[in-house]
Amino acid sequence: MADSESKVSNFIRNIIEADLAAGKYASRTWSGRPGPAAQQKVGAGETAAIRTRFPPEPNGYLHFGHAKSICLNFGLAQDYGGACHLRFDDTNPEKEEQEYVDAIIDAVHWLGWAWGENQYFASDYFHWMYEFAEKLIEAGHAYVESQSVDEMRASRGTLTEAGKNSPYRDRTPAENLDLFRRMKAGEFPDGAHVLRAKIDMSSGNINLRDPTIYRIRHAEHHNTGNIWCIYPMYAYAHPIEDALENITHSLCTLEFADQRPLYDWLLDRLADLGCVNTPLPQQTEFARLNLTYVVLSKRKLVQLVDEKHVDGWDDPRLPTLSGARRRGFTPEGFRRFAEMIGVAKSDAWIDMSVLEGCMRDHLNETAPRRIAVLDPLKLIIDNYPAEQAEECFAPNHPQQPDLGKRPVPFSGELWIEREDFAETPPKGYFRLFPGNKVRLRYGFVIECTGCDKDADGKVVAVYCNYFADSKSGTPGADNYKVKGNIHWLSARHAYATEVRLYDRLFAVEAPGSGGGNFIADLNPNSKAVITAQLEPALKDAAAEERFQFERHGYFVADRVDSRPGAPVFNRAVTLKDSWSKGK
Ligand code: ATP
Ligand code: MG
Repeated sequence: MADSESKVSNFIRNIIEADLAAGKYASRTWSGRPGPAAQQKVGAGETAAIRTRFPPEPNGYLHFGHAKSICLNFGLAQDYGGACHLRFDDTNPEKEEQEYVDAIIDAVHWLGWAWGENQYFASDYFHWMYEFAEKLIEAGHAYVESQSVDEMRASRGTLTEAGKNSPYRDRTPAENLDLFRRMKAGEFPDGAHVLRAKIDMSSGNINLRDPTIYRIRHAEHHNTGNIWCIYPMYAYAHPIEDALENITHSLCTLEFADQRPLYDWLLDRLADLGCVNTPLPQQTEFARLNLTYVVLSKRKLVQLVDEKHVDGWDDPRLPTLSGARRRGFTPEGFRRFAEMIGVAKSDAWIDMSVLEGCMRDHLNETAPRRIAVLDPLKLIIDNYPAEQAEECFAPNHPQQPDLGKRPVPFSGELWIEREDFAETPPKGYFRLFPGNKVRLRYGFVIECTGCDKDADGKVVAVYCNYFADSKSGTPGADNYKVKGNIHWLSARHAYATEVRLYDRLFAVEAPGSGGGNFIADLNPNSKAVITAQLEPALKDAAAEERFQFERHGYFVADRVDSRPGAPVFNRAVTLKDSWSKGK
C-alpha cells in the first residue's frame, strides 16, 4: 500500500533516523502486551525498530486533522519497519461512547492502515497508573491536596509570578498514601482531594507547578464501569500509556509542547522506580492541520451535528472521515495530501483546494467515465425512426485506452443539458441553437430546427434532424466540421435518480474568525438535490463505486442511501477548482 514516490525528509524522520543509527531503542524488549517494566522484560517477543501510536479520545468522529496524524504515525511505522498502535485514550469517564470507538476503527481501516494486535485502551492501564501513583507517593514525588479548586488556582501564580506552596505539600508519604487509598475506596465526594505531583511551585513552566495527576470523579466509565471513582489526568496518563506500550516516538501537536517537561519528569521518576522501560519514549511536536472552509474541532463538529446543521456525523459535507467516505473522497487522496503538506514545527493554514486537488488527481486516474445529464431537456430527432435504437461507443477512460469502450444506447428522443441549448445564442456560443450543427458526443451530427415552449416561455423540447452518415467512428464521419460537441442520453434508456451536488460547508475561509458565531458562516448552498438522467449502466453501480460524469465532476454511489439496482449519487468534487475563479 506504500505509495511509490520517495518520501520527503522532515524533522521527525531526521530524529528517527538518528535514533536508529545510534541504536537507541534496540535494547528494548517487547512482550507483545503492554505492561510495566518488570513484565516487559519477561521473554523476548516481537521487536520493532520504532513504535508510534495514534491516540484518539473516543468522544467524537475522526476529522481531516486526525487523518494527518494517522498518516504520519502509521506511515512512519511502515517506512521504518516499526509498529503503530491504535490506542483509545479513554481516561475521561464522562464523554466517551462505544459508537465513537467503532467509528474510529472503521475510519482508520478505511484510510488503509492496519495495527494487528496493537489495539489498546488506556483505561485498561488504570490499575498500573494507580500502582505507579502509590510508588510516586512513597518516593515523595506526589501528595494529596485538600485545598479547593479555587484555592489551588489562587496559589498557582502567573506567568510572571511564582506560585505558593500548598499547606498540604509537606504531608508525609504515609499520610498521603492513606488518603489516596481512601480516595480510591470512595470515602470522599468529588473535588474533596486531588493527587498532585510534587515538582516546583516556582517553575517558569506553569505545567510543572505541582500539576494535578488524579481527581475524584464518581462516574461510570464505558470500559471499567464503576470500579474506579478516581481517574488519572491526561497529562499523567498519556506518558504512562506510551511507556507501557513501549512507544519510541510519541508524536503530538504543538499545543502539547509545554507539557513535554512534565512528560519527561514523570517518566524519569517512574523509570527510577523500576516501573517503565528505558530508554524512555520521546515526545515530539508537529503543527496541527488547519484547513480553510471547515472547522476541525470536535466541539464544533458536535455542535453542527447536534443542532442539525448537517445530516449526521457522516454528512458528506462534514470534514469527518466518515463524511469524506460518503462524499466519494479516497483514502489514497488523503495519503497523498498528508505527504504533500508534510510536517512542520509551526502552524500554517492549508487551503481546501489542496485537499480537493489531491482527491481530483486520484479520481482522475482511477474513476471510469460515464455520462450524466444533470439538468435534462428533451431533444427530438425528427428524422430518426421512432422505434429504432442503436449503440454508440464511449471510451471508459480517455487516458487509458486499454480500459476499452462501452456501448451507450442511442434513439430518436434524447436528454441533453438545458444549458446546451439557446434559442438566441450569446456571442461565441457553439452549442445548439436553431440553424446550428453540433456533434452528439460519440454519436451523430445534428442540425437544430427549433423548440417548443410552455406558457411561461420556458423551453420544454428542442427539435433537430440528424445526418445518418455522420456517426462517430464510421468512415467519412469527420467530413462534418462542427464546433460544438454536446453529451446526451437516450430518453427511454436513461436511469433517472437522485443526485446530490455538494459544495463547501462554509462560505468563508476561516469560519467564525470575523468575531461572530461560526454557524453564521455556513454556506447556504452547500447541498442541492436534483433528479438527473444517467447512463443506463449506472443503475448497476455498487455502493461506493466512483465515476467521472463527463463535464460534471467525480461522483460516488452513496453507501447509505443506495439500494441494489437503485443507486443514488453524491458529487465528490467538480472537474476544476471552481472556488479559485476570479481570485
Ligand atoms: P480536537 O482538537 O478536534 O478536539 P483532539 O486533539 O481533542 O481533537 P484527539 O482524539 O485527542 O482529538 O486526537 C487524537 C490525535 O489526533 C492526537 O494525537 C492529536 O494531536 C491529533 N490531532 C487532532 N487534531 C489534529 C489536527 N488538526 N492536525 C493534526 N493532528 C491532529
Ligand atoms: Mg485531545
